[in-house]
Amino acid sequence: MTATPSTPASVSALPSLDRLLRLPALAALIEGHGHSRITRLLRSHLQVLRDRISAGQLSAAQLQEAVGGPALVAAIESALAADARLDLQPMFNLTGTVLHTNLGRALLPDAAVHAVSRAMTAPVDLEFDVIRGRRGDRDARVQALICELTGAEAATVVNNNAAAVLLLLNSLANRRDVVVSRGELVEIGGAFRIPDVMRSAGARLLEVGTTNRTHPADFANAIGTRTALLMEVHASNYAITGFTAKVDTAAMAAIAHEHGLPLVVDLGSGSLCDLATFGLPHEPTVQETLAAGADLVSFSGDKLLGGPQAGIIAGRADLIARINRNPLKRALRMDKMGLAALEAVLALYREPEMLAQRLPTLRTLSRTQDDIDAQAQRLLQPMRASLATDYTLEPASMHSQIGSGAQPQAQLASAGLRIASARRGGLDRLAKRLRQLPRPVLGRIADDALWLDLRCLEPGDEAAFLAQWSALQA
Ligand SMILES: *Cc1c(COP(=O)(O)O)cnc(C)c1O
Repeated sequence: MTATPSTPASVSALPSLDRLLRLPALAALIEGHGHSRITRLLRSHLQVLRDRISAGQLSAAQLQEAVGGPALVAAIESALAADARLDLQPMFNLTGTVLHTNLGRALLPDAAVHAVSRAMTAPVDLEFDVIRGRRGDRDARVQALICELTGAEAATVVNNNAAAVLLLLNSLANRRDVVVSRGELVEIGGAFRIPDVMRSAGARLLEVGTTNRTHPADFANAIGTRTALLMEVHASNYAITGFTAKVDTAAMAAIAHEHGLPLVVDLGSGSLCDLATFGLPHEPTVQETLAAGADLVSFSGDKLLGGPQAGIIAGRADLIARINRNPLKRALRMDKMGLAALEAVLALYREPEMLAQRLPTLRTLSRTQDDIDAQAQRLLQPMRASLATDYTLEPASMHSQIGSGAQPQAQLASAGLRIASARRGGLDRLAKRLRQLPRPVLGRIADDALWLDLRCLEPGDEAAFLAQWSALQA
C-alpha cells in the first residue's frame, strides 16, 4: 500500500445536508434554482464523497476543502450544467444525410412553427366546428388537404407511419392473410420489421415469390378465402439489383381487384411532388400510386414530405371509415401540435413552384453542387485558421444522401470540407471536440478523413457555425 499524504477522511466528518443547505455561499444557487433541486444535487454530491471516503480515496484535508463554500458552489454549478446538457439540443448536421433519423428528420418551415406555437399557447378549434357551434372532427382539415393534393377520396392521420401500417392491417386484416412479396419484407431501423408488424396487428403474413423475383401468378395463386388484402412495401433502405422481377403497382391492383380485394401500399417516404422537377431522382408519389390503382397508401410525415412526425393513410372512403372505427385509431391519434404543423406543411404544397424556397427539406435537397462549393470556399480560410498545423483542411466534392429510406442508392452531388490529420487518432479526437461544441457538429469519418458535407448548413446558420469554430483551437 502507498502511504497517503495525510490522514484519511472519516465518514463521520461529512457535514449534514442541513448544514450545507444553510451555507451562505449556496444562498444564491437556492434562490436561482429552488430548494428541492439544490437539495437533490447536494445529496448526490455527499454520496460521491461518502463513496470516495469508503474507498480510501479522500484525505481529511481534501474533504474539508470539498465541502467548503467555493468548491461546493463549483461542484453544484457543474452538476447543474451537466443536467442542462441532457436537454434536446440543436446540432449542425454535416453528415450529408438530409433526413437523418437520429437527428430528428425533417426541419419544419416557418409557417408550421408559427402554427404549432399558436396551437400551444391558445385554445384552438381542434375538435370544434366554429360555424355550426358544435363538436367537430380533429382530422377534418388535414383530411381535406390530403384529398385535395392527392386525389384520394378520404384520408386519416396517426402518430407515424409505423402506427399507420399497424392500424391499417389491424383494421382490415385481423386474423386473415396478407399477401406480400418476399423481396419486400423489409426492416426499417431495428424496431420496424414488416413480419413483426403483421404479427402485432393480428394479420397472417403470406410471403410469395422469391427475394429477387416475384411474378403476377405468385400473387394470384396465393389468394384464397382467408385473404384480406394484397400489400406492396417500398423497399426503402435497400435495393435489389441484377436478375430481378417485381410486379408493379398497377398489375398488383389488377390482380387484387379481380378477386374483390384491396391493394394497400406502404410507400414509406411518400412524396407529394415529383422530385425530378427539383433535379432529384424520381420517387413514386402518393398521387401516382393511387392513380395506378392502390386502394390505400400510407406514408410518413417527417420524411420527404418535410413535415412533423406523422403517419398518413389516403385512399378509398369505405376503407378509411373502417380504419377510423378501430379503437386503436384513438390510441394512435396525432396531438394538436403535430396536426397544426402538418396542416401548415400540406398547405404549402398548394403552391408547388414555391416549395423549393419554403420547405426546408426540399430547399436543402435541391441545393446545387456549385452553390455548396461556393460556401465551402467561403468557409475555408476562417476554418483553417482555428486548426492546428497537423490537420489539413481542403474543399472537396462529396455525395449527400436523402436519408430515411428514400432512394438509398441516390447520390446527390455535394461539396464540403475534407479534414485529414498527420497524427494517429487525430481525426477521432477532432470529431469528439466537434461533438463537444456548444452546438455539436456531426460529420462523417471515412477513408482516413473527416468529411463535413455543407449541404445542410443553411446560409443563415453560417455565422453561428464560424463563430463557434473560431473558438475551437483544435
Ligand atoms: C420509414 C418507413 C416506415 C416507418 O415510418 P415512420 O414514420 O418512421 O414510423 C414504414 N414503412 C416504410 C416502407 C418506411 O420507409
